[in-house]
Amino acid sequence: MVEAIYKYIFKKYLALKFVKLKFPVSPYKILAELHQSQYWSREKMKSYQFDKLRSLINSANKDVNYYRDRVKDYDLKLLDLDDFSKSYPILSKRDVLDNSYLLRNNHVINKFRHSTSGSTGQPLTVEISGLAEAYRLAGKMRFYNWWGVDFHDKSVLIWKLKQVDNKGLPYTKNIKRVLKNRLDLDIFNLNDETVSDFVTKIDDFGPKYIRSYKSGLFELARLMDKHNLRFKISSIKVAVVTSEVLIQEERDYIKNILGCKVANEYGSAEGGFYAGECQHGSMHINEELSFLSTDQENNTCVTELNNLGTPLINYFNGDKIVISEEFCSCGKTSRIIKEVEGRISDFILCQDGSRKSSLILSYIIRESMNSKYHGSIKQFRVVQNKNHFLLEMVPGLAYNEKIEEVIKNEMRSEIGKDIEIDVHVTEAISREASGKLRYFIRKS
Ligand SMILES: [Zn+2]
Repeated sequence: MVEAIYKYIFKKYLALKFVKLKFPVSPYKILAELHQSQYWSREKMKSYQFDKLRSLINSANKDVNYYRDRVKDYDLKLLDLDDFSKSYPILSKRDVLDNSYLLRNNHVINKFRHSTSGSTGQPLTVEISGLAEAYRLAGKMRFYNWWGVDFHDKSVLIWKLKQVDNKGLPYTKNIKRVLKNRLDLDIFNLNDETVSDFVTKIDDFGPKYIRSYKSGLFELARLMDKHNLRFKISSIKVAVVTSEVLIQEERDYIKNILGCKVANEYGSAEGGFYAGECQHGSMHINEELSFLSTDQENNTCVTELNNLGTPLINYFNGDKIVISEEFCSCGKTSRIIKEVEGRISDFILCQDGSRKSSLILSYIIRESMNSKYHGSIKQFRVVQNKNHFLLEMVPGLAYNEKIEEVIKNEMRSEIGKDIEIDVHVTEAISREASGKLRYFIRKS
């Protein structure tokens, strides 16, 4: 009954926005379409994407100064999506930062503002159109449906919380938050002293899903494990991990301690909701929302197809991913992201000048523990400063300091034999200002 009321309120809330023309199309209408289009043939989807892309390019060439001045001839030359990927100029993050006003379509009103956290050093704000926002929301709703939950179901968000909203009101009084049927918990307030309170609050609220950064859920699991706490409720169907690369050991650990499935989502504030994982373990690209392509080195370009507000066309989002044409056994037909290797700044600069994915560090740690030091390490972070590496480790119950030499030797063999490595064993690894926790940082 209460759920039905919330669903009603949530729909009304969206309808209210619809009346205000913020959403030119109801997200629920789009959701119904997305549930159909996820089974389209690849050819049909490509044709749909190309039509949308052409409309976006035409609109940008007509109404957006940046494109009118620079790339206006391209719409006439394009043959198909492959042709677009190969020939259309790449829009870099630097281009977006330098031309934020020139990239806006001033004919599109009622835009939604999204900002990146600036974890790569340069925060970015874009204003997306109501249509793109409606598609993002509908894409999220579909993703949650894949996991047997509705977006408006009770949920817990563990995030960096604002103290006040944009009207200066205390965040907890924010009407949007209340309407979202969601309990918000501050990631910066999660520690040894508060974890029991976190667990009690979540138990009392009885959410159907939890969403956080990977490191937020990992930290919750680690602290629950340390203090021998478990949820009393069994209502949680899925823990949704966002924003950070999730490795298998972390997924298994979170799943075991939280007692629910773990799903990965991938997107960015400026570029949209790119992909979500299904219950068969595949990261399905949201083809109706964004066109993704990669070059030979797996650098990723995205185009949010519905964002006429600030069109970012063939935008290099700074990530490296591997896209597969394989079909998932779940029956959905989208292409699949095989691996999110991470951001360029997440790459280790090796002694010979080459770059290596920082995923290698998690493999090294895993392999070292697999040999004979199982349970030695709970969490780690590596900070590179030129030739110097600081390895920070949160020890596990079975910590054995001999593992340090094993890891050092492996790191030298992978990165360079003359690198300097210092080890710092610590109780906890601190977060960045955004609330994220990266396991590799390259300072220079
Ligand atoms: Zn699937």
